[in-house]
Amino acid sequence: MRRALIAGGSLGGLLAANMLHCAGWDVLVLERANATLSGRGAGIVTHPELFDCLEVAGLTVDDKIGVPVPGRITLGRDGQVLQESTLPQILTAWGRLYHLLKAALPADLYRFGAGLRAFEQDDAGVAVTLADGSQQHGDILIGADGIRSTVRQQLLPQVRPGYAGYVAWRGLADEAVLSEATHRAIFERFAFCLPPGEQILGYPVAGTGDNLARGHRRFNFVWYRPADEQSQLPDLLTDEQGHRHDDGIPPQLIRADVHQAMLRAADEVLAPQFAEIVHKATQPLVQPIYDLDSPQLAFGRVALLGDAAFVARPHCGMGVTKAAADAKSLTQALAQLPDDPVQALKTYDSQRQPIGRFLVGHARSLGAYMQAQILTSEERQMAERYRSVEAVMRETAVSPALH
Ligand SMILES: Cc1cc2nc3c(=O)[nH]c(=O)nc-3n(C[C@H](O)[C@H](O)[C@H](O)COP(=O)(O)OP(=O)(O)OC[C@H]3O[C@@H](n4cnc5c(N)ncnc54)[C@H](O)[C@@H]3O)c2cc1C
Repeated sequence: MRRALIAGGSLGGLLAANMLHCAGWDVLVLERANATLSGRGAGIVTHPELFDCLEVAGLTVDDKIGVPVPGRITLGRDGQVLQESTLPQILTAWGRLYHLLKAALPADLYRFGAGLRAFEQDDAGVAVTLADGSQQHGDILIGADGIRSTVRQQLLPQVRPGYAGYVAWRGLADEAVLSEATHRAIFERFAFCLPPGEQILGYPVAGTGDNLARGHRRFNFVWYRPADEQSQLPDLLTDEQGHRHDDGIPPQLIRADVHQAMLRAADEVLAPQFAEIVHKATQPLVQPIYDLDSPQLAFGRVALLGDAAFVARPHCGMGVTKAAADAKSLTQALAQLPDDPVQALKTYDSQRQPIGRFLVGHARSLGAYMQAQILTSEERQMAERYRSVEAVMRETAVSPALH
C-alpha cells in the first residue's frame, strides 16, 4: 500500500486525505495545532464543483450542507435597494465542512500537535521530521499547510504572500438578535453594500452546532477596507501590549480602540442594515488580504496544494473549491500512474497551475478598487472595470468558469 504524508489538517489537507484514503492509499495527516480547529473561519460560498469533490472524498451531500439563498441584493448608504438579481447559491460554514471531512477519516489517520519542521526525499520516498524530532516516512508528501507553508518555504523560499493593500473584517451575528426590518431586508439573500473604495457582503450560514433551523442561524459578513501597509495595517495588528501580529491578530487581542473605530466607521459608511449586523457580531476578526502565486507545484515526490500553492483574494469565493479540485486532480493523477508518483505529481502540476494562476489574477482584478494605493495603470484599469454595482453582483463569489 502506498503512503501519503499530508502536512496541514485544515480543509485542503482533509480533502486530500479523504480522497486518497477512498482511492486505497494509506494516509497520515500531520496538523501543527494541538486541538480541533473547529473554532476557525466563518462562511464559505459553495459551487457545484465543490459538491462533486466532496462526493469523491466519500461524503454524501444533502440539504444539511448549508443555507440556500435565491439571489442577490445591493443596498445603498440609505438602506434602499439599488439592485436585485436572481442567483441561487448554497452558503455553508468552514466548521460544517471541517466536521464532515474530519468525521469521514479514521481518527488514527489524523494527528494533532504534529507540526512538520523539514523533509528530505530520495528515489525511495520522503522522510518528514516533526517539531518534536520524530520522523515519518511515506511515498509522497503533500504540503497543505496554508499560506505560510513550511513545505513551500523549504522548496521556494523566495515565494512570499504579497499584501493586497486592504483588510477584511469578518464576523457573525445571530439571527435571533437582528431587528425585524434588517432580517426582512437582507437575511435570506446574498447582500452587498459598496461604500467608496470599500465593499461589504453578507449571507446567512448555519448557527452554533451547525443549526439550520429558522431563528438559530447566523449572518456572516466580510467587509473589505483599504489599509496602508506602512501605518494603518501595523496599527490594526498591534495588541494592547504593543505586540505586533504580522501573520494575523487573534480576535480576542484586537485593541478596544481599533474595534470602536471599526464600529464608528460602520455607522458612517454602511447601509443601516449592515451597520446593525456589524454592531451585533460577536468577536469580529480582521484579516489582511494577500495574493500568493507559486511558480511550481510538484517537486519530485512533494506537491503543494490549496493555500500553500496559490492564494487568490476571497472575491471569487473559490479558496475551498480550488483546494478540493487540487486534491481531486492529484488523486486522479496518482490513480492513473500508480507506479510513478513523480510523474503523477508532474501531471497534477500541469493541470492545476494554470487554474491557480488564473484565479489569483481574476480575484486581483475584482479587488483592485479597494487597494489603499493604486500604483500602476493596469491596476487603475482593473479598478475602473470592477467598481460598478453590476460587476460586483455578477462576479463576486461566482465561479469564473460560469462566465
Ligand atoms: C476573508 C476571507 C474570506 C474567504 N471566503 C471564502 C469563501 O467564501 N469560500 C472559499 O472557498 N474560500 C474562502 N476563503 C479562503 C479559504 O479560507 C481558504 O482558501 C481555505 O481555507 C484553504 O485551506 P487550506 O487547507 O489550503 O489552508 P489553511 O486553511 O490555511 O490550513 C493550513 C493548515 O496547516 C496547518 N499547518 C501550518 N503549518 C504547518 C506545519 N508546518 N505542519 C503541520 N501543519 C501545519 C495549519 O495549522 C492549518 O490547519 C476566504 C479567505 C479569507 C481570508
